[in-house]
Amino acid sequence: MSSTDSPPVVIVGAGPTGITAATLLAQYGVRSLVLDRYADVYPQPRAVHLDDEVFRIVHRLGIAEEFAKISRPALGLRLLDPKLRVLAEFDRDPARAPHGYPQANMFDQPEFEALLRANLSRYPRATLRGNVEVTDVVGIGGVRTKVTYTDRADGSEHSVETDYLLGCDGANSLVRARIGSAMRDLRFEQRWLVVDVATSADLGQWAGVHQLCDPHRAGTFMQIGDARYRWEFQLLPGESADDFGTLTALRPLIAPWTAATRVEELDLIRVTEYTFRAQLADLWRNGNTFLLGDAAHLTPPFVGQGMGAGVRDAMNLAWKLAGVIGGTLTPAALDTYEQERKPHAHKLINLALMVGRAMTSGGEFGNMLRRSIIPRIHRLPGLRDRVTDSRTPPLHRSALVHRSYLPGRLGGTLCPNAVDPDGLRLDDLLGNGFAIVTAQAPNAGILKAAEQYGAAVHVVTPGSELADWLRNGNARAAIIRPDRTVLRAGRDVGELAGLLGRYLVAVDENQRAGVQ
Ligand SMILES: Cc1cc2nc3c(=O)[nH]c(=O)nc-3n(C[C@H](O)[C@H](O)[C@H](O)COP(=O)(O)OP(=O)(O)OC[C@H]3O[C@@H](n4cnc5c(N)ncnc54)[C@H](O)[C@@H]3O)c2cc1C
Repeated sequence: MSSTDSPPVVIVGAGPTGITAATLLAQYGVRSLVLDRYADVYPQPRAVHLDDEVFRIVHRLGIAEEFAKISRPALGLRLLDPKLRVLAEFDRDPARAPHGYPQANMFDQPEFEALLRANLSRYPRATLRGNVEVTDVVGIGGVRTKVTYTDRADGSEHSVETDYLLGCDGANSLVRARIGSAMRDLRFEQRWLVVDVATSADLGQWAGVHQLCDPHRAGTFMQIGDARYRWEFQLLPGESADDFGTLTALRPLIAPWTAATRVEELDLIRVTEYTFRAQLADLWRNGNTFLLGDAAHLTPPFVGQGMGAGVRDAMNLAWKLAGVIGGTLTPAALDTYEQERKPHAHKLINLALMVGRAMTSGGEFGNMLRRSIIPRIHRLPGLRDRVTDSRTPPLHRSALVHRSYLPGRLGGTLCPNAVDPDGLRLDDLLGNGFAIVTAQAPNAGILKAAEQYGAAVHVVTPGSELADWLRNGNARAAIIRPDRTVLRAGRDVGELAGLLGRYLVAVDENQRAGVQ
């Protein structure tokens, strides 16, 4: 068995979660080794949607423009009854883009993963080793963890020791088993058929997501690319994907959307069966080993947030890990990862379960309720806005999230990625470190404190979007974390600057270069 050089971080799994974590760590100057059993991206298209909060992380990775070219914004949501009559339509306002990107974006997961991998190859600090099977992890909870893996090409055995191990190894995570964590079942299991079709014919369909509310067979339809469409249908007992392996067999299901198109014009890319589950790992960390992505949580895809949750995990952990390794945060910062991410992931799983049940439950009585209630509720402006609002819940309170009990307060929420009068977005102005965003002019003492702790200072223009955001949150200033979550907001910028030492370790010249 050969042993490789010891990087500070080893990542098991090169799916979207693992690659995002490796890229962000590399941006902070942290070396990592990513191990995956496949040489290339997993070819099965699974995720098709991500929201603007996740798009903002994609921008952070440096590939926003490239992602925009392979994705298309979705107009909103249509709820259909079993006869495909529109029960309600929730249109998105394309002008509403608090993070600078469309609130719903459709794409093809393998294409996105190829983009993520090509981008990672630009960072010499990250090494991706494909075609290797991780077979064991020992020393969890100790100072060093040893990962053993087999090269699938020649069967040779290898090992690597590391300070930090990230289990981004998906639903059947080996790392999860090794840290003694178990998946808690949130009591949802349904078999669904997933169909991808390519056609250059115009199907003449509305460019949003169609949810078919039918207790007999619920379904979803959406356009995910210029010439690409996705259907998902609930499978009935006794049915399997084999029953729908050809366009002829599929025709009865997809006919309502394709009746006017000749079958020769449709190219069936794939038909697969997935079992949609809702599960949450009971433990996300043991010592210096962490679980991220599908290894930590599984959700049915009804609100398109599974992959997004993994990307959010990576964003949440990467800067904390980089801060602890670089000495700008104390090791206690790592406790906040599970405290913040687990409740957030749980809330989005619950939202998906609610949507899934609203689409399917209640039999004929449910149908009647949907027919009578849904057409009315979508006229209520507050509720209509909630359906199309892509904002996710604030992060749970932690040592790095100071939340007030009063409603509307900013702690734990994402700071908008506002445009300043020069046309620059906040994310491009602030860099990748901490920042103070303030409506009050900072004095020399405040600027000195910010410099001491490696935080940028951004003074908002009166009347601007950020000024309104602070005012609506009853604040005059806020400490913004590297992931753009509000750590703490307040009415006195001097007081906030004085609190930086509570959260951060003072940095020297070299560290300052690292955190920016
Ligand atoms: C039908 C369907 C539709 C979906 N739609 C959406 C959607 O619209 N939006 C959304 O956000 N999400 C959606 N999802 C969920 C999304 O696809 C997953 O959440 C996402 O792929 C998880 O990413 P990950 O990196 O955490 O795990 P994975 O993508 O599973 O990657 C894990 C990686 O670990 C590797 N690995 C595992 N074990 C080992 C080992 N022992 N050794 C070496 N390598 C290993 C695997 O090869 C794999 O590359 C959907 C899922 C399905 C099935």
